[in-house]
Amino acid sequence: YQDPAPLDLKRYIREVPDFPKAGILFYDISTLIRNADAWQIATARLAESVLKFQPDMLAGIESRGFLTAAPLAMRLGCGFTMLRKPGKLPGETISHAYGLEYGHDELHLQVDAVRPGQRVVVLDDLLATGGTLAASVDLLRKAGAHVVGASVLIELAALKGREKLDVPVTSLLTYE
Ligand code: AMP
Repeated sequence: YQDPAPLDLKRYIREVPDFPKAGILFYDISTLIRNADAWQIATARLAESVLKFQPDMLAGIESRGFLTAAPLAMRLGCGFTMLRKPGKLPGETISHAYGLEYGHDELHLQVDAVRPGQRVVVLDDLLATGGTLAASVDLLRKAGAHVVGASVLIELAALKGREKLDVPVTSLLTYE
């Protein structure tokens, strides 16, 4: 897909105050992905930044990370692996509990999700405190991956999440 003209993707992201709880400004990508052009362009731009990491495999974080990563994996000719919430993945898994901007959670990965040394880029919709991506990088490494980067659509720069990560991070849209 050719990026025809500068398109301000921020216009497609709905900002919802006090969701899911008071004091949190929620960046809603539903309004972006329901617009075919905006989603295509976001995916094309993300693909460009992820391609630089030369990944063999993409990993997506449930559930909005699936929306970001799966179309990219198809486009880049990579496999796709899922980082999921507890109780969703069959077979043996490894897990990591972590803190969120607005709560805490736990992610699981199948032990055989990646082959040793595979170059993996992990994706999510948004980087806030970095807890989710840091946990994901940790899990992927435990499974034997060579994690070469992390990419998100949206970065909340003031929360300094990228400082929690020891891999290069790319983001399409930055908010202060
Ligand atoms: P964190 O672990 O603090 O970096 O939080 C990132 C995760 O929580 C991502 O999976 C996001 O989908 C979600 N998240 C955190 N803060 C927000 C926010 N302000 N708007 C939308 N999603 C958020």
